Amino acid sequence: MLETGMSRLARFWSPLRRLAALSGLLVAVACATVLPKPPTAVIAPPSSPVAASIPPSLPAGEKEKFAAFLAEARIKALAQGITAENFDRATAGIAPIPAIAQMNANQPEFAKPIWSYLDSAVSAPRIAAGKQMLAAYAPVLADIEAKSGVPKEILVAIWGMETDYGHVTGNFNLFAALATLAYDGPRQDYARPEFFAALQILQDQHYAVRDMTASWAGAFGLTQFTPTNFLRYAVDGDGDGKIDLWHSPADALASSARLLADAGWQPGQSWGYEVELPKGFAYETADLDLQKSLSEWSACGVKTMSGAALPAGDAMAAIYLPAGARGPALLVFSNFNVLFKYNNAASYALGVAMLGDRMRDRPAIAGAWPRDERPLSRSERLQFQSDLTVLGFDSGSADGVLGRKTRGALRAYQQAHSYAADGFPTAALLALLEIEVAKKNASASAK
Ligand code: CA
Repeated sequence: MLETGMSRLARFWSPLRRLAALSGLLVAVACATVLPKPPTAVIAPPSSPVAASIPPSLPAGEKEKFAAFLAEARIKALAQGITAENFDRATAGIAPIPAIAQMNANQPEFAKPIWSYLDSAVSAPRIAAGKQMLAAYAPVLADIEAKSGVPKEILVAIWGMETDYGHVTGNFNLFAALATLAYDGPRQDYARPEFFAALQILQDQHYAVRDMTASWAGAFGLTQFTPTNFLRYAVDGDGDGKIDLWHSPADALASSARLLADAGWQPGQSWGYEVELPKGFAYETADLDLQKSLSEWSACGVKTMSGAALPAGDAMAAIYLPAGARGPALLVFSNFNVLFKYNNAASYALGVAMLGDRMRDRPAIAGAWPRDERPLSRSERLQFQSDLTVLGFDSGSADGVLGRKTRGALRAYQQAHSYAADGFPTAALLALLEIEVAKKNASASAK
């Protein structure tokens, strides 16, 4: 996640999921929500102190600010056609939820390494449960796949990643959760439109407010839709005349399929597969934003895991190194990027892709992970960025998020020193940067 999410930071907060990931709340479920992407696709470890430090109440003045938000929202909602009755039903008795306010403000200190993330996201029990779902919902899934072109294994994998097949869908009141994020704090831009979309859903669908439960980030149902995505994509998959993403797998899976199809899923095309890179590979070309044709990658010496040549052709693909040059290499097609629409993190996309593959009994990733690498803390990530900038490699503003700009700066630094330019930050690289910065400071003060 480190890497991945970062590169897409610019589009931050696409899917909820990240938010969940951010908080560490749903780590065991591999997070699930189509929420805004957190400042970094970072996943806090289960030992995160967040839950333990929930404040008993909000700071002075916050309740008043919340009430002012609701008063203003009511005027706007009524102007948009929400009835006063529905607005008042949705907001009766709600108050800022301290646990959510706390998670909203939290900046996770540690990012979970991608291999640990995948260990839980693509666990043996989750693969087995996925196979059971494929069997149990075979006719429904076949129908959805035929209509949308999205493979049933990908849909079931999303179901598994998001809520562990419906076991963890979130218990917060949807309106209270979104209002908490919308009235104040860093996620207002995400949460405000979602709050009004939730009101529109209530208006259109006539749910009981108490049944509209959500994650702390306001994603809900079996595949964790945000309210805006509900309004855009939700469909009645089982034909009972009602769209119920909380209880109907057919509705939830058909809605997820529609979202992915709309995002450009190419029927009949794979998400990608693991490949073998040649010695001396130009690691600076391994970037999700850099696509080449299979023939071009072949000419670079990229091979299948069995050592065979890649299929010839002009299909475009990128090389993705989830853990840098020391880890596995994946060749990914445009469908891999489509998964970002669900959750804006490459780690999430890889989790879905691998979980789907494993349900089809395709091989797990064979390349070894650099499990001896320890994740950088937030303060170390900040240091990483400022060191690069001090040394003349502009990494943008030091925000602790190792995104595209930082990765570019790191690649430039690595190239200047003839290291494999994978743009992957490690503790060893940070130590080298620190030494260089110290030298630079010493020579500056000697002058
Ligand atoms: Ca239905």
